Amino acid sequence: MPPSTTTASHRILVIDDNAAIHEDFRKILQQPSQENVDLLKMESDLFGQDVLSESTARFHVDAAFQGQEGLEMLRRAKAENRPYTLAFVDGRMPPGWDGIETIKWLWEESPDLQVVFCTAYADYSWWDIQQSLGTTDSLVILKKPFDTVEVLQLTHALSRKWELSRDVQGRLHDLAFNDTLTGLANRVQFMDRFAQTLGTVLRHGHKAALLFIDLDNFKRINDSLGHGVGDELLRTVAERLRRCLRGTDSLARPSLLGLAARLGGDEFTVILPEIQKNESAATVARRIVEHLSQPMDLGRHRVQVTASIGIALIPQDGDTVETLLKNADLAMYAAKRAGSNTYGFFQNSMTVLAQQRFSLENQLRQAVARNELSLHYQPQFDLLTGRLSGMEALLRWNSPELGEIPPKEFIPIAEDCGLIVSIGEWVLRTACAQAATWIAQGLEVPRVAVNVSVHQLVHVHFLDMVRDVLAQTGLEPSRLEIEITEGLLAVKPETVLAVLRGLRALGTQVAIDDFGTGYSSLSRLKELPVDCLKLDGTFIRDINNGKPDQAMLDAMIAMAAGLGLRVIAENVETPQQSSFLRDRNCPGVQGFHYSLPMPQDQAEAFLRGEKTPIEPGAEHPDGAQSKEGEHGQA
Ligand code: C2E
Ligand code: MG
Ligand code: MG
Repeated sequence: MPPSTTTASHRILVIDDNAAIHEDFRKILQQPSQENVDLLKMESDLFGQDVLSESTARFHVDAAFQGQEGLEMLRRAKAENRPYTLAFVDGRMPPGWDGIETIKWLWEESPDLQVVFCTAYADYSWWDIQQSLGTTDSLVILKKPFDTVEVLQLTHALSRKWELSRDVQGRLHDLAFNDTLTGLANRVQFMDRFAQTLGTVLRHGHKAALLFIDLDNFKRINDSLGHGVGDELLRTVAERLRRCLRGTDSLARPSLLGLAARLGGDEFTVILPEIQKNESAATVARRIVEHLSQPMDLGRHRVQVTASIGIALIPQDGDTVETLLKNADLAMYAAKRAGSNTYGFFQNSMTVLAQQRFSLENQLRQAVARNELSLHYQPQFDLLTGRLSGMEALLRWNSPELGEIPPKEFIPIAEDCGLIVSIGEWVLRTACAQAATWIAQGLEVPRVAVNVSVHQLVHVHFLDMVRDVLAQTGLEPSRLEIEITEGLLAVKPETVLAVLRGLRALGTQVAIDDFGTGYSSLSRLKELPVDCLKLDGTFIRDINNGKPDQAMLDAMIAMAAGLGLRVIAENVETPQQSSFLRDRNCPGVQGFHYSLPMPQDQAEAFLRGEKTPIEPGAEHPDGAQSKEGEHGQA
């Protein structure tokens, strides 16, 4: 492909102390003589372009009498972004620099300048020149006196060479500084530009902002629809980002519009190099959130991605590139936690939280090995028979450094950093082994319930792991109940369904925890292979407030009965709640009213009927207390 710039006008610099020579060059290069026309014709044939018709615009000659003067012209041309392609430099130009000295300076300024060194035979040998200027392919020697064709040929050849090398350099520059997939700036360019912006802000005391953008559900789309669609999605995101930044606000000068970059994966950044007030950064972030969340048609698929954006203000939120990036990232993370598809400003408290989290995560990594985890067991009762129906295993972490940390605090962290997979396996193994031991001791344990988070459930080896644990502990599969939270059903429905079917095939039970708070439609529930619904504690709490949603409770209990599902009401705390539930024919209960979760030894004593802590004045489920002993602790 011929370079597209072939017909561009080239600027030629002649540096010679003889005015007549200046005129010669102008005549040869600026006015097409017959030789020039012949040469251009040849070039047109060769490259298939009509070079001839534009020939007069082809070369523009400027001339200087001295090296210093030539250097000044070169600098000016460069500053004006109209660089010289080629310089003809005379060998001797008294009283100033000679040719070699002049060329050294020219190259210092513009290393890619092509140079023709014009010298009389006796002046310099090639050896002399190489000694002074080094080996280079940007220099040609033209012996005086020269003829017109030589000058023309050299000018054409060298200006073409200059064009080509510019082209290649441009492409190399693109590769080094732009993201090949999206064409946005890449991390290298981003870091460079961000450092520049920061420097300017700190020097001139104005404001800027950094937006850290992360797509909320990219991984899921990429995994399920394939990388081709994933790539297309990223390109679309990039295009939308560009459009948002091009902006409609006519007030913004082009230089202030911001630079978008892709840092890698589904992480993007935007630098807003000059903002008047903080709200401007929020305006841009809001616009990006809105634009990105519009559905995208990618091939046969219509998908929707959302983004979470963190904003760090410069210099308010940091005065180094690292700090600002970290803080924008923290703000993004907080936005994600706040429900995604939104943006938020960095706040100092986030650093404290992040540090706490970091230390928690580090401690948690060692918790299993250091034996800091344990299980408590909370009994579940059948209200109709009054008998124990199961024991729910609840994870406890007692860290020597941080003390007792509640599961609601550390489980989300374990989920985020992937630790939940190994911790969850430990829980399952320990609970199953414990239940098997109790049963072997002749104690009655109808079921052991184990909570499983979505991250575990969708893990590729989950079913194998469950099968393995059952085989190794010898626990009968029907005595294991896996509890999954209702919200989980909304994520990856196909995968979850397949795993639930797998569990059913293994023969274990499945309960839906915290039921009534999530989104599962009743029709959906019918299709799911589950065995038990655990009614969320909020419904039970309302009983105490004297405003129970009776219709709701009745409906859930009736529906469960209709679907052949067991029901357990969670968090039953008071006698009032207990009798209310019994009146509504709620079959199962669990809560502080009957028993707190107990450590292993107490749970064992409870199963043996030895443990008799009782809540004074509490009303107990029919028969439960008389048979099992008194075990309400609260
Ligand atoms: P969950 O599965 O709904 O567990 C019931 C929670 O309610 C337990 O809190 C239990 O101590 C508490 N509870 C029981 N009876 C009452 C009551 O009458 N009133 C009140 N207010 N609360 C009651 P805990 O042990 O702090 O666990 C909280 C959550 O942490 C669990 O909710 C479960 O979602 C999660 N979790 C606990 N252990 C594990 C585990 O091993 N793996 C996973 N993935 N999650 C776990
Ligand atoms: Mg549970
Ligand atoms: Mg629950």
